[in-house]
Amino acid sequence: MPRRSPRRAIALVVASALALAPVAPVPLAQAADAASSRTPVYGVTPPAPPAPVLPPVAPNALPDLGDASQALLSPAQERKLGEAAVQQLRAAGGWMNDPEVNDYLNELGHRLIAASKDVKSDFEFFAVPDPGINAFALPGGYVGVNTGLILLAQNESELAAVLAHEITHVTQHHVARMIEGQKDSMLMTLAGLALALLAARSSSAASGDIVQGALMASQAAAIQSQLNFTRDNEYEADRIGFQRLDAAGFDVTAMATFMERLQRAVRFTEGNAPNYLRTHPVTYDRIAEAQARAQNHPYRQHADSLDFHMVRALLRSYVGDARDAVAYFDDALAEHKYNNEIAAHYGLVASLLRAKDMARARKELAKLEQMAPPHPMVEAIAGHVLLDSGDLPGAIKRFETALARYPAKMQLVYDYPDALIQANRFADAAAFTERQIDRFPHDGPLHQIAARAYAGLNKQLMQHRHLGEYYAWQGDLKGAVTQFELAAKANDGDFYQASVVDTRLRALRREVAEQQKTGFAKQG
Ligand SMILES: [Zn+2]
Repeated sequence: MPRRSPRRAIALVVASALALAPVAPVPLAQAADAASSRTPVYGVTPPAPPAPVLPPVAPNALPDLGDASQALLSPAQERKLGEAAVQQLRAAGGWMNDPEVNDYLNELGHRLIAASKDVKSDFEFFAVPDPGINAFALPGGYVGVNTGLILLAQNESELAAVLAHEITHVTQHHVARMIEGQKDSMLMTLAGLALALLAARSSSAASGDIVQGALMASQAAAIQSQLNFTRDNEYEADRIGFQRLDAAGFDVTAMATFMERLQRAVRFTEGNAPNYLRTHPVTYDRIAEAQARAQNHPYRQHADSLDFHMVRALLRSYVGDARDAVAYFDDALAEHKYNNEIAAHYGLVASLLRAKDMARARKELAKLEQMAPPHPMVEAIAGHVLLDSGDLPGAIKRFETALARYPAKMQLVYDYPDALIQANRFADAAAFTERQIDRFPHDGPLHQIAARAYAGLNKQLMQHRHLGEYYAWQGDLKGAVTQFELAAKANDGDFYQASVVDTRLRALRREVAEQQKTGFAKQG
């Protein structure tokens, strides 16, 4: 998954957040180095089919949104645009496939949404494996949060404050209006968005090859100036975001506190402001306003969820060398330098697993299980400790029991069939995965697991079909077409399966053609 890729994570982007300079590393936030380059690890569906060869993501990879002269983007158009942007992010390794982290962000985000009555659109939150401090909203309700920002937040209310601000950029249609405002510029607005996505990548050599030739720096700079939110948008996102934070029961002083933390972080970064500050500039005015709002409220303490601490510990366990991560948690526990003891123990187990020190991992896991309340992340890591200790039947049993209790936790939904595949129980794995695909039809990684199960069964039509869906989910439409062509040639399916493949193949070919057409139209 993303961690399989040796490529350094891209620095992110956005419609809302745009940065051309390399990401400034921030002391507290080195998570993504590990997140992208390491081999490990716990929390991932293990490697299987070869990684797709990603085509260069060209600015013409735009959805056909119909009549560009229409006055306003419809919600459906916004969603389609956001989806296209997310696919580009996935293709470039900018979408962290860590279900525990993403599940948590979605739970936190939806707590804020549920508390406010004005939210009508769907939202999807996801982590971006990048140490740069950033968060951004895309059209259609997609909100990305860099791992660096999650590690910088010292309590859950601070992270919630950032999400509340981003949610508001979406609900107030700031993103759509920003795009809208550029209608008569030289670039088709949507093409501008795609270019911006490319431009915002880290300018490091490692990611440069993807962007290569796609655009000139000067073009990118022009687009950047077009895509910043207005000052008024920022103030509005703060004001309404504050109300969301309050309505959902978080500590409202956290908004000002986190803005100050961001400003302090800048001082360590030698002139390069973190992305977030460039795209949502924090001024003294904004901090003062946030403080004044909080002062008008009675002080309310908010107890951080255990999930918040567990997710941060997991992200911290990905930072740097595995042995360094072990040392970090050993030290934190010895010196009592942690915000949450259970999470610190969890982080130690995760680091030991990464370091493949199984004897110690088992010992520390026993301690963790003694002190922790029932928790899906403890169940999942316990299964992984069994798995990596060579106890395959024990791991399968553990995942099975955990799933009965937490059927919607995607980490477990991936881990269980994966363990079945390792035990050569391909038919069981395929049957389980098919049922999950019915429940979560838009989940790409499930298709990848299904492809592996069918490969084990030597069912080629089904294997290529699922691999094709996985590539499509990643935004690699040409790769998807190739897989569906192989599926069509496989000749080992029934009539129904063959016609599903044919229909899907035609749809994918149409989509590829549309993208190419859009590209030509733009250049002409
Ligand atoms: Zn903003």
